[in-house]
Amino acid sequence: MTTRSPHYPVAVVGAGLGGLTLARVLHVNGAAAALFDLEPSPAARVQGGMLDIHDDSGQEALRAAALHEEFLRRVHPGGEATRVLDRQGTVWLAHEDDGTGGRPEIDRGDLRDLLLGSLPEDTVHWGAKVTDARPLGDGRHEVTLADGTAFTTDLLVGADGAWSRIRPLLSPARPAYTGVSFVEADLRDADLRHPASAAVVGGGMLFALGAGRGLLAHRETDGSLHVYAAVVAPEDWLDGIDFGDPEAARAAVLKEYDGWHESLRALVTDADGALVPRRIHALPVGHRWERVPGVTLLGDAAHLMSPFAGEGANLALLDGAELGLALAARPGDTEAALAAYEDRMFRRAEVSAAESARNTALLFRADSPQGLLDVFAGRPDQETQEAPACG
Ligand SMILES: Cc1cc2nc3c(=O)[nH]c(=O)nc-3n(C[C@H](O)[C@H](O)[C@H](O)COP(=O)(O)OP(=O)(O)OC[C@H]3O[C@@H](n4cnc5c(N)ncnc54)[C@H](O)[C@@H]3O)c2cc1C
Repeated sequence: MTTRSPHYPVAVVGAGLGGLTLARVLHVNGAAAALFDLEPSPAARVQGGMLDIHDDSGQEALRAAALHEEFLRRVHPGGEATRVLDRQGTVWLAHEDDGTGGRPEIDRGDLRDLLLGSLPEDTVHWGAKVTDARPLGDGRHEVTLADGTAFTTDLLVGADGAWSRIRPLLSPARPAYTGVSFVEADLRDADLRHPASAAVVGGGMLFALGAGRGLLAHRETDGSLHVYAAVVAPEDWLDGIDFGDPEAARAAVLKEYDGWHESLRALVTDADGALVPRRIHALPVGHRWERVPGVTLLGDAAHLMSPFAGEGANLALLDGAELGLALAARPGDTEAALAAYEDRMFRRAEVSAAESARNTALLFRADSPQGLLDVFAGRPDQETQEAPACG
C-alpha cells in the first residue's frame, strides 16, 4: 500500500523573520501557510542580537501584520544611541537616544516570539530540514525532508536564509565571501562585572574603527554587551584559529588589534564564554531571476548582504509582508502576485545591497572612522545617506 505525501497549498521553507511575517500576513488575510524549519524547536537556538526596525520597511511590515502596537511595547528604550571611536579610544561622535529616531531597537528573539505567538499553533513544522525540492509541472513542487518524508505544494517559498535549498530552483547564484570576518564575543552582566566596557559601549551601538579592523558592540536587553570583532582578512583566516581553545582564540584575535587602546581591547580580553567565528557573505548586488511558476524567495535567500546597511532583517520582514499582501490581493492568480512581489522586491533589494557593499568598504577605509563620520554628518560627497548598523 502506498501512502500519499501530504499536500499544502502554500509551503514556506524557513521560520525566520521573513517566513513568519509572510505566514502572519496571510493569516490576518484569511489564508494559511505551512512553515518548515530545520530547528528542532522554537527554543533550540538563542536568537540574540538587537535589530533596529526602520519606519519605512520593518515597521511597515509589522503594521501589515497587525503587530505594530505590540512591537512598540517590546522595544528597548535608549537602544538608538550611537558612539563612534577611533582605535585610540578617542570619541568622535556620541549620539544619545532621545526617543525621536525612526528606528526603535528590539531583541531579535523578542521579535521572533512576537511573530510566532501570533500564528495558529502547529503552523510551523519544527525539525523539518529540507534537503531537496523539484518541480512537478504546472507550478507544483515536491519537497523532500532529511527524514526521508516528502510533501507537495502549489506555492513554494524559500525563506531559508543565506544557504537556501530553494534558491537553485530559480537562480545559480551562490553567496560570496565579502572579505570581512567576524569573531563574536559576549560580556555578561556588564554594569556590574564590566563597568568600564559598559561605559565605552554606551546605551546602544559602538563603532570603534581603524584601517581594516573594527570593534562593533551593542548593549543587549539582558544587560550584556555583544561584540563583533570585524577583521578584513582572507577567507581562510578563521580556519587558522582554534576556537576550541578559548585562550588561544582570544590571543589570535587580539593580535589583530595590536596598538588599539586597552579599553577597546578589553571587549575581547574580558569576553565571557566562547568566541564565535562568522564569515560575512553576500549575494551579487542586483541578484534577480526570471519568473519560475509556483516558487519564489524572500529575505536572505533572495538578497543576502553584509550587515553594514542594517537592512537584512528589515527587508526580510517587508518581503514577507508584501508577498502576503500580493497573494491576498490576487486570489486565484498566484503568478501575477509573484511577479508583482518580485518586481518591487528586486528593486528595493538592489538599493540596499549596493548601500551595504559601499558601507563595507567605507567602514574599513585607511582613514577610518572618517568614512562613517562623513555619513553621520551627511557630507554631500557621500553617496550613501544611511548610517551603517549591525545589531
Ligand atoms: C552578524 C549579523 C548582524 C546583523 N545585524 C542586522 C541588523 O542590525 N539589522 C538588520 O536588519 N539585519 C541584520 N542582520 C541581517 C539579518 O539577520 C538577516 O538579514 C535576517 O535574519 C534574514 O531573515 P530571513 O528570514 O531571510 O532568514 P533567517 O533569519 O536566516 O531565517 C532562515 C530560517 O530558515 C531555516 N532554514 C535554513 N535552512 C533550512 C532548511 N534546509 N530546511 C528548513 N529550514 C531551514 C533556519 O533555521 C532559519 O530559521 C545581521 C546579520 C548578521 C550575520
